[in-house]
Amino acid sequence: MMQIHDGQCGLCVHFGEKHPQEPKLIQIRTSKQAPENIVEECGHPKHKPLHLMVTPISGCSGFEPAKLN
Ligand code: SF4
Repeated sequence: MMQIHDGQCGLCVHFGEKHPQEPKLIQIRTSKQAPENIVEECGHPKHKPLHLMVTPISGCSGFEPAKLN
């Protein structure tokens, strides 16, 4: 498992944005940990046309914190 820090994709609202209620995404947000092999599409408007795929420890300046609910 990897530790996820603020500013990294795993805690960003755009990480797996197409399916935000998926249990594994909620698990990552609440535990701030993720398995090494997870890759998700970034839904940020600037990346979406490129179908950018990122890991939970990736990041960019488009980071917006995901809400925990
Ligand atoms: S690449 Fe940037 S916008 Fe996309 S999920 Fe990661 S931090 Fe968020």
